[in-house]
Amino acid sequence: MDKYSEIRVPISHDNPSIKRRESKCVLCGKCKDVCKKKMGVAGYWKYDSEDIVCINCGQCANVCPVESIVEQDDTAALMDAINNKQKTVIIMTSPAVRVSLGEMFNYPAGEFVAGKMVSALKKLGADYVFDVAFGADLTIMEEASELIDRIKNDKVLPQFTSCCPAWVKFVEAFYPQYIPNLSSCKSPISMQASVIKNYFSKQIKVSPSDIVLVAMTPCVAKKFEIKRDELRGIYGQDTDFVVSVREMGKLLKKQKINFKSLKDAPFDEAFPTGSGAGVIFGASGGVMEAAVRTAYHMTTGGNPPADLLHFKKLRGYKDVKTATVNLLNKDIKLCVIFGTMAARTVLDKLKSKHFDMIEVMACPNGCVGGGGQPKQADNDSAVIKRAENLYHQDEIMDVKSSYENPVIKMLYNEFLTAPLSERAKQYLHTTYKKR
Ligand code: SF4
Ligand code: SF4
Ligand code: SF4
Repeated sequence: MDKYSEIRVPISHDNPSIKRRESKCVLCGKCKDVCKKKMGVAGYWKYDSEDIVCINCGQCANVCPVESIVEQDDTAALMDAINNKQKTVIIMTSPAVRVSLGEMFNYPAGEFVAGKMVSALKKLGADYVFDVAFGADLTIMEEASELIDRIKNDKVLPQFTSCCPAWVKFVEAFYPQYIPNLSSCKSPISMQASVIKNYFSKQIKVSPSDIVLVAMTPCVAKKFEIKRDELRGIYGQDTDFVVSVREMGKLLKKQKINFKSLKDAPFDEAFPTGSGAGVIFGASGGVMEAAVRTAYHMTTGGNPPADLLHFKKLRGYKDVKTATVNLLNKDIKLCVIFGTMAARTVLDKLKSKHFDMIEVMACPNGCVGGGGQPKQADNDSAVIKRAENLYHQDEIMDVKSSYENPVIKMLYNEFLTAPLSERAKQYLHTTYKKR
C-alpha cells in the first residue's frame, strides 16, 4: 500500500486510466483533496486492503501540479494500428472534444475546431473519423424509451443516466442498492462501437477483427469502461483503445501535424453527425435536455416547444439543478448533477425526495471538464466556455433532436428495428454489478 496515503490518493498498479510517476510527486495533497471533496471517493472506503477504490474519473490528474499523475498512454497502440496496413483504423470523437482540442494548439478555451480535428486525425492516418454525437442520439432513443416504459409501467424510478462510467462505477461501489435505477443503456461510445463492429463492418466488408476502433474522448474513465466484461460483444472488446484530448494533442504535435494550418473536413458519411441534442451531451444537463426533447416527441407525436429546446433550468455551472416537465399528463421531476460528491448529497436524501430521472456526470460541468481535457489555469472559466460553445452549436444546427436524425431512422429501419427491441437490447444495453 502507499506509505503516503495520509497525504495523497493511492493508485493501484493495474489502474487502466491513470498512473503516478513517483519521482515527480511533491506530496502536495491536491489529488486527495479533489478525490475526497469533489468526487466523494477518498475517505469513503476503508484503507485496509489491497483493493483500492477508484472510479477512474482522472480529476486527480487534472489537479496534479507537476504531472505526476497522468493518464495511461494509449497513443503507441494507436500508432501501431495506423502503421499496420492490415488494419482499418476508425477514430470516433466525443461531443466535448470539438470544443477543447484546439486548446492544445493555443486556441482560446472552448474554440470550436471540429473540422480541423477531423482533418488532423485523417492526416494522422485514420481511415474513418466518426462523430460520437451520433452514438449520443442512439443512447437518447433508448434512454427516453426506457424512461417512458418505467413511468408507464410503474417500474423502478428515478432512472439514473448511465453514460458516465465513473458515475456508474460510483453507484456499483458505494450505492449498490441503486443499481436497478441505472439505465441499462450503454454509453454513447459503447453503443456506437457495437454498431460499428456488428453493422458498419458488414457495410464496408471488413472483418471486425481487422477493425481497430479508437475513441478520442475527454474521459479517462472510458479506458476502464471499454474493458468491462459486461460490454464484451461477440467479437470481444468493441472499442479497442481510448485516447484522451491531452494524449491526442501531444501525439499530433509529435507527428508534426500543423493543426492551425489544416483545412476543415467533415466527419465520414456513415455517421455524418449527431443532432444538436447529441452535441450537448458534452455539458452537464445536456443528456437530460436531449432525453426530454425525444421523450416529448415519443409521448405526444409532436415536436418539442421552444422552451424544451432551451431548457434553461437544466443549464449553467451549478452542481445540482432541478426542473419539472409534463409528460404523460404527469409532472416528471428531473435532477441534474455534476461531481459524485454532490451526487452523494442527493442519493442520501432520495428516500424522502422523489425524482423521476437523475443525470449524473462525474466531472466539473460534465465531460467538458473531463479528466483527459487540456489543463487550464482557470478551469472553471474553461469548462463554462466549452459548454457555452456546445449549446451554441446546438442553436445553429437544423436537426435538434435525436429522433429527427435521418441516419438514426435508417439504422433502426435496417438493423435495430425499434428502441428497446430484442435486437436493440442485444447490441445497445448492458448490465452492472456490485463492486
Ligand atoms: S481517478 Fe478519480 S476516483 Fe480515482 S483516485 Fe483520481 S480522483 Fe480519485
Ligand atoms: S497532486 Fe500530484 S504532486 Fe500532489 S500529492 Fe498528488 S500525485 Fe503528488
Ligand atoms: S463526466 Fe464525462 S469525462 Fe467525466 S468521467 Fe463522466 S463520461 Fe468521463
